[in-house]
Amino acid sequence: MEPDWEGPLGEAYARAMTYLQNLPERPVGASAAASELRRRLGGELPQGPGNPTQIIEALADGVEGGLVATGSGRFFGFVIGGATPASLAADWLATVWDQNAGLYAAAPAAAVVEEIAAEWLVELFGLPAQTSVGFVTGGQMANFTALAAARYDVLRKAGWDVEADGLIGAPAIRVLVGAERHDTVDRALRFLGLGTRCMVPIAVDGQGRMRPDALAPELGQGPTIVCAQAGNVNTGAIDPLDDICELATDAWVHVDGAFGLWSTVGTPIRGIEKADSWATDAHKWLNVPYDSGLVFTAHPEAHRAAMSVRASYLIHDAEKRDPLDYNPEFSRRARGIAVYAAIRALGRSGIVELVDRCCAMASRFAEQLREAGADVLNDVTLNQVLVRLGDDDLTRRVVTAVQQEGTAWASGTTWHGRAAMRISVSNWTTSAIDVDRSVEAITRCVEIEQARSTQG
Ligand SMILES: *Cc1c(COP(=O)(O)O)cnc(C)c1O
Repeated sequence: MEPDWEGPLGEAYARAMTYLQNLPERPVGASAAASELRRRLGGELPQGPGNPTQIIEALADGVEGGLVATGSGRFFGFVIGGATPASLAADWLATVWDQNAGLYAAAPAAAVVEEIAAEWLVELFGLPAQTSVGFVTGGQMANFTALAAARYDVLRKAGWDVEADGLIGAPAIRVLVGAERHDTVDRALRFLGLGTRCMVPIAVDGQGRMRPDALAPELGQGPTIVCAQAGNVNTGAIDPLDDICELATDAWVHVDGAFGLWSTVGTPIRGIEKADSWATDAHKWLNVPYDSGLVFTAHPEAHRAAMSVRASYLIHDAEKRDPLDYNPEFSRRARGIAVYAAIRALGRSGIVELVDRCCAMASRFAEQLREAGADVLNDVTLNQVLVRLGDDDLTRRVVTAVQQEGTAWASGTTWHGRAAMRISVSNWTTSAIDVDRSVEAITRCVEIEQARSTQG
């Protein structure tokens, strides 16, 4: 039977173009309730085949109103980037080619594209030349993979082979973490069998940066991993990595730089190259489609010891890079292809401009919101703005109102015990006009909610 590619792919292309072209003006938040989405998309289990083109049409109709326009220049929730044209198109082709990028033998071009992208990334971030790289699903798995390598290495130095003997009976590992680390660090430690009680929280300063004076007394007490951070998820603050690495020479220093690492391309973070591993996301600030994370280690042997797999039916070649040696997946999508295209399309200067523009837009937000009477809580040194729009109750209500109003979308948080709106500027298209329109929408919502409060 001749497959009909034209029908469903043509429909998908048409829907894609409509979506992308309307992105700058469509409401940013979702409007459909879960019950409505279930009704539109649900129904009986299909008992037989359907027409692929009609399925694509029905799917695209069904999700309408349930999509959050995270690719919009006025989406500021969590830390989520959009997708650049080159990375999106390359990602489509990665799907069309449908390569299993685990093994060189199964996907030579995908393996080489990733090898090249890996070299470019190491150069962009200024990491040591021997740095090993893995293409994972996100920051969570990047932290997991790096910490698996760290677990192997600190125990190897203590005379214990964790890959063979596991953790039962192993020397204890102390994991020194900033008090404001990202929750994925805790989760990675759970996945790794270390558990969250292995963590020793290290005091941070007012912006969430690990304090070297608080770290120093905790060092030198057996196998130790230090989890530092480049880019606090609330404030954007970057830990003093140079000081941390100088102090923790006997420990494995991991840097969670899910978004902050990208800032080192234009404004080098001092001492970053002295760490032992780094995690970052391509789906955040590089604006590559989901899902795409990156893990780097300065110790390829430890990285491979923790991740690699050999089986009798697999084909390996000492001269070739098998991606599965560097990530926890076995079979997997060739997600490095989109990363490669993104880097080629932006180049070093494009990445620097993208990051600088987002930071400038975050500053613009802070300035304008301050002028409008809001309270900016953090030092806006990167792309994150924490703003308070009245008391806790009013702030929370405004966050909800802004999400419903549709001009822009930002999420809420509780920071140092106080409710705040979190604004993260991570999209490659965000312009001054987007910021101005968003500030207007936020101020309007504040006025409406304030009026509602006085009415009781
Ligand atoms: C987003 C983020 C993560 C988790 O990354 P995912 O891609 O969502 O898995 C980890 N650390 C920090 C600092 C982050 O901002």
